[in-house]
Amino acid sequence: MEDYIKLKKIIKIKNEVKYQYEISDNIKKYFYPSDFTIKYGENIEEVPNSILAIPFTCNILPIIWITNSTLEIPELDRDFFNSIEEFKKGYINMYPSITFKGNIKVENIIKNEYEDSKQCLCFFSGGVDATSTLITHIKEKPITLTLWGADIKTSNENGWDKVKEFIIENTPNIENKFIKSEFRTIINEVNLNKKIEKYVSENWWHGFQHGIGLIGHAAPLCYIHKITKVYIPSTFTKDDVGVTCASDPTIDNYVRFGSTKVYHDGYEFSRQDKIQRICDYNQKTNNKLKLRVCYMTDKGNNCNECEKCIRTIMAIKANGENPADYGFSPDYKKIKYILENKCYFNNIILPLWNNILEQFNKNKNRLKDDEDVQWFFNIDFNKINKRYLRFYKRVNRFIKRKIGRK
Ligand SMILES: [Zn+2]
Repeated sequence: MEDYIKLKKIIKIKNEVKYQYEISDNIKKYFYPSDFTIKYGENIEEVPNSILAIPFTCNILPIIWITNSTLEIPELDRDFFNSIEEFKKGYINMYPSITFKGNIKVENIIKNEYEDSKQCLCFFSGGVDATSTLITHIKEKPITLTLWGADIKTSNENGWDKVKEFIIENTPNIENKFIKSEFRTIINEVNLNKKIEKYVSENWWHGFQHGIGLIGHAAPLCYIHKITKVYIPSTFTKDDVGVTCASDPTIDNYVRFGSTKVYHDGYEFSRQDKIQRICDYNQKTNNKLKLRVCYMTDKGNNCNECEKCIRTIMAIKANGENPADYGFSPDYKKIKYILENKCYFNNIILPLWNNILEQFNKNKNRLKDDEDVQWFFNIDFNKINKRYLRFYKRVNRFIKRKIGRK
């Protein structure tokens, strides 16, 4: 018999929506037996089930496709239903080595419409991409939306409190929305990673779930607040080749629901462009928008030592700005040491570091006498890479000798 996932009931009580669903035995291994609940920051009881089914569907669909199963949904929004085949094409083209099949059976397809309230919704993490998107759309009365359960686990209350506090403090005069969702905890990423590892060098969360999985959560809010534009900030840019990511213009830009359209935003800007836009905005408006970029700490702040933190610190410095004004506490001696001894610049981050070096050279007059970062003008990423590889070959040889292999 064909495998299936059946949405049996949507329970909505005040702020919370809970999905009851049934999974056929064969594909149970891709799930954990916990409840899929989402807690919004406001009452969602007025939202029809055809809209509330969207967050569930978005997070389940990629599993349906790669296991060739059937998703059964009692009621679903018409525009969303019609958009599924369109954004599925983005996945098909991104991963030619995987067959995306599966069916979706909906008993009642329902048209939902609302007039535009002239506000937009911006997915917001506090990072470089999100802050750049917020600046771009600042005149469209943006509402920010941040999900607890994406990079901060729903069990980590302290980490989440810090993130929430950071976002509220850092976006004065902007309405913030927060959602707590178990969309990651219900899914067995370990088993899904095993299923895809033969075909792609991606993990489930980054390569298949996170973009569409996040976007779906916006649907109930868009219905309540009559929001017709949702912006999801891009991580990559049109110049990145060979990059795969579940959040991509070929997927996100085809997602529609109710009267809302989704836009993958900022794809035309490099990371250095975005940082420059944030620096320019802060200078022009006297704002001090800070950045939260780190995934290495689950405390919700920047660790100042991981590659991403260091890269952002140096990118801000490249614009002649003080990273301390942007939420960092840099120790430049330590940064130099980490870059020269602990980093390997792969084909994704090397271009970003080269952009920073270019920007340093553009601002040479301002930075050449800065003792903190003078050393950076002479950095040689290729040389560091060679040394790094030599070191690891030595370590490997040593380990092999120790365990008695030839
Ligand atoms: Zn960090």
